[in-house]
Amino acid sequence: MRDSAENIRYIIKEKIKPKRQIKDFSFEEMKEYFESKGEANYRVNQLFDEIYSNRALSFFEMTTLPKGLRQTLSEEFSLHSLKIDSKRISQDGSIKYLFELNDSNLIEAVYMPWINEEGEMERSTLCISSMAGCPAGCAFCATGMLGFKRNLTPSEIIEQIMLVEADLNLKINNVVIMGMGEPLLNYANVVKSLQLMTGEKSKIIGRRKITLSTAGIATKIKLLANIDSPPKLAISLHATTNATRQKIIPISKSFDISSLMDAIEFYYRQTKMPITYEYIVFDGFNDTPEDAERLRKIALRVPSRVNFIPYNDISFTNPQGISKELKPATSEKIAEFANALRSAGVAVIVRDTYGRDIEAACGQLALSKDNKVGE
Ligand code: SF4
Repeated sequence: MRDSAENIRYIIKEKIKPKRQIKDFSFEEMKEYFESKGEANYRVNQLFDEIYSNRALSFFEMTTLPKGLRQTLSEEFSLHSLKIDSKRISQDGSIKYLFELNDSNLIEAVYMPWINEEGEMERSTLCISSMAGCPAGCAFCATGMLGFKRNLTPSEIIEQIMLVEADLNLKINNVVIMGMGEPLLNYANVVKSLQLMTGEKSKIIGRRKITLSTAGIATKIKLLANIDSPPKLAISLHATTNATRQKIIPISKSFDISSLMDAIEFYYRQTKMPITYEYIVFDGFNDTPEDAERLRKIALRVPSRVNFIPYNDISFTNPQGISKELKPATSEKIAEFANALRSAGVAVIVRDTYGRDIEAACGQLALSKDNKVGE
């Protein structure tokens, strides 16, 4: 067994010489690789146990595998695709993590503890990223304002969970794919990460504990409905007419509300899981009684709930056009809007913001380091 200094040297060496990421491989793919090397199938079980149950930090720690195999794996694969660059802790207990990828790109994830009235931890939620940056350009989103760097690989997606669990020494029991990026524009990698998260041999979290949030890529929603372990679906709705929605979510020009509703109904029929609609109430933009009525009709089409999420200021991104005009509605106005829906039979939750003091609004993340925010 190597000591920790040797492990650190080994991790540094891995960074210099890029290799394939072992966590990009499914159990079946790794079985094929082992077969090609003449290794017995049960060794794949051992490898997956070492990675996902024992959370080994290097191949040399994987003492259930023979030394020669550990050496081969270490020469051909990398075990780490990102590392914690820094973290910021909010007064409310949430933590924003900044991760550095192996190519030096940066991404963020936000940990949110949910404490019940008795002061006990009810849920530990992690909001993770699916891209470095985002090409979707939603007018209310800091990530969207900052442009697109690249898609994340499956290992980069799942390692956010594994690293936070190791850092906080706890189990994340709720994952929302709602950080940086539009997950359904990185469809193949996100689906593979879902398979790894929920796979029998790599189980990180149950599928009913995962929510994927999308700006509404209708074609991909239909595909997602048919995968083995579909997650819960959340839709960044934020407007109830095509004209209004297109002003703030450019991608909705390709997927209007009617095609989106088709896809959502299909998703519900296939998965039987209620849908969540996210709605930021903007002052004078999407907060009229007519908006409430249209939102009621949308929400009652399949079992669902509406989350009113708070708007966090993105003025540090130097917003232009409509982004500059968007202002959050007052809490009184949001309460009035929420009550109108509730009295019409819609399940509504008005969300508190988590981590406002650390710019950690899920779905509106920005790279603190790049932009010197809150440094
Ligand atoms: S809200 Fe989501 S999809 Fe839209 S720009 Fe931000 S990260 Fe991308």
